[in-house]
Amino acid sequence: MQYHLDGYRPGDPRIRAACAREHEGETVDVLIVGCGPAGLTLAAYLAGFPTIRTRIVERKSGPLERGQADGVSCRSMEMFQTFGFAGRVIEEAYGVNEATFWKPDPDEPARIIRTGRVRDVEDGLSEMPHVILNQARVHDLYLETMRNAPTRLEPDYGRRFVSLKRSAPGSGSGSGPVTVTLERSDPGHEGETETVRARYVVGCDGARSGVRGAIDLSLKGDSANQAWGVMDVLARTDFPDIRFKSLIQSAAEGSILVIPREGGYLVRLYVELGSLAADERVRDRAVTSDDLIAAANRIFAPYSIDVQELVWWSVYEIGQRLTDRFDDDADDPRVFIAGDACHTHSPKAGQGMNVSMGDGFNLGWKLASVLTGRADPVLLHTYSTERQAVAQGLINFDRAWAKSMSAAPKAMDAAPTLQERFIEHGRYTAGVSVQYAPSALTGAATYQHLAPGFPIGMRFHSAPVIRLADGKPMHLGHVVEADGRWRVFAFGDGADPADPASALARLCAFLSDAPASPIRRHARDGEDIDAVIDLRAVVQQNHHTLCLTDLPALLRPAKGHHGLTDSEKVFCRDGAAGRDIFDLRAIDRDAGCMVIVRPDQYVAHILPLDDHDGLQTFFDGALSP
Ligand code: FAD
Repeated sequence: MQYHLDGYRPGDPRIRAACAREHEGETVDVLIVGCGPAGLTLAAYLAGFPTIRTRIVERKSGPLERGQADGVSCRSMEMFQTFGFAGRVIEEAYGVNEATFWKPDPDEPARIIRTGRVRDVEDGLSEMPHVILNQARVHDLYLETMRNAPTRLEPDYGRRFVSLKRSAPGSGSGSGPVTVTLERSDPGHEGETETVRARYVVGCDGARSGVRGAIDLSLKGDSANQAWGVMDVLARTDFPDIRFKSLIQSAAEGSILVIPREGGYLVRLYVELGSLAADERVRDRAVTSDDLIAAANRIFAPYSIDVQELVWWSVYEIGQRLTDRFDDDADDPRVFIAGDACHTHSPKAGQGMNVSMGDGFNLGWKLASVLTGRADPVLLHTYSTERQAVAQGLINFDRAWAKSMSAAPKAMDAAPTLQERFIEHGRYTAGVSVQYAPSALTGAATYQHLAPGFPIGMRFHSAPVIRLADGKPMHLGHVVEADGRWRVFAFGDGADPADPASALARLCAFLSDAPASPIRRHARDGEDIDAVIDLRAVVQQNHHTLCLTDLPALLRPAKGHHGLTDSEKVFCRDGAAGRDIFDLRAIDRDAGCMVIVRPDQYVAHILPLDDHDGLQTFFDGALSP
């Protein structure tokens, strides 16, 4: 974490200097509807941009306190790192290390026995763990990030989205082409109507989204006619694996998924409640919490669970539904939907919150780039294209996974077992298998061979390095912050980077001096040289053999009011066994390469170190000069 650049500020460095509030009126740049994981991720992202006027409204009277999603994938943890709170989540959460599998005892089918045990996340998949933490706590961390951001953004609770109206598509360059009507329920204003004009509106208002309906989109798909209950309990039990994630299939009473929770005592149980008739809804069954507890005890036999405190419970039916697109207009999108508003699926694979946050993160940097004038609004077209494809993949996955979970263990014998499917889907559930298709943001695979371990279109898979300036062992990916900036990681070819003839030094010379340099072209007068594109060098030399001040000036730029040197641009390979980034990511040691990383941590392109034209062309397509 770097701070004090513009002068010493005492106190918690996470609380950033507040910007002057330019505008408090009824016109905003972005109006976000809904304080769930999708809306809060987007709000936390935009809150960091002093010039963007963001408002987030929520129909409830205050923050979520309990219940709903709890699984945080490795990929979401990587994203949390960019907001600066992954470490706190690790401290507080339950870390999922192993999963166990239980089936009927062949000799006595009414009893369950443990049949398998696997690592939850394969080694090396991510530097971040898979954790379990109440959605409400995730919300709290986002709310804190928003409060500490320069704009000091706070949600406006007690505002229900009622309707929206937008001026004709194409005429939308005005300050607020979308007019939204809200109904207030906050104390003293009950029943009052409020009108907000916004340049962009984002419906993060959940599965029953009103914003979705207002732009004539609908969730399409089907229901698997499977009823499930979920409860968070504090209980006494003799089930030995209560602190392991456990998938239990009984002979005749259905399945349970045990999810140990944060704090060491709390546990979540997903309990199968059986099939629904074609037109039946789970709410028609009038299931009570006692029914859920009784069903759990039947499945757990011969073990039992004695609930002391029922913290939260709910029943739901499995269905996989998706909208055709995630915005209102293919040419001039002004209204977007994100999260459950555009995709719903079963919660047991733990994807609901994760994919919703991924939507918010994807849209966040794009809206920020457009609203700060860094990118053409055409960039916003990629939100629907990229995220709709991700959601379609999720729906396909969820259909197969939900079927496996509900299948009787006998029927599963012929097919791959639940345990085999669990392993097969590990990368998917960890959230690291998303790959965006080629576009202006995702280059062709022409030079993929220079670094096969950084697949283009997939998230930048961090690896260890040693920071040259202070010898700190760290993760290279952790230099990426949720700040809208692009990163160019220049991996050296082995030549001495202090030699002006080396490819790395020549790249630096181009980037600092040439009129065509994208770094120069996209930074505005008075801005730091890395304001839009942040160059980082990773070299093969041992950090004891190099001297920072011998390296090209661009790798130790002067920044801020005082012109202080930023010493954190150069990293060396970590020579300890199993930690060499060049080996781990199969980077060509003879040629080196440039890896261009989007603000949301996805690898946009790979180019040879001397392909200065290619670098310029790529950024010409992604950013406005
Ligand atoms: P949500 O979290 O649904 O947030 C939408 C927000 O918008 C809410 O705060 C809502 O009050 C607000 N809102 C809605 N309409 C309006 C309006 N008109 N005006 C203003 N605000 C509005 N996932 C799991 O992985 N595991 C689970 O066990 C699980 N259980 C769930 C139980 C329930 C009862 C629900 C509703 C969801 C559950 N989910 C679960 C799903 C998971 O919570 C969602 O996938 C995730 O929260 C989606 O995030 P989101 O931001 O898109 O929407």
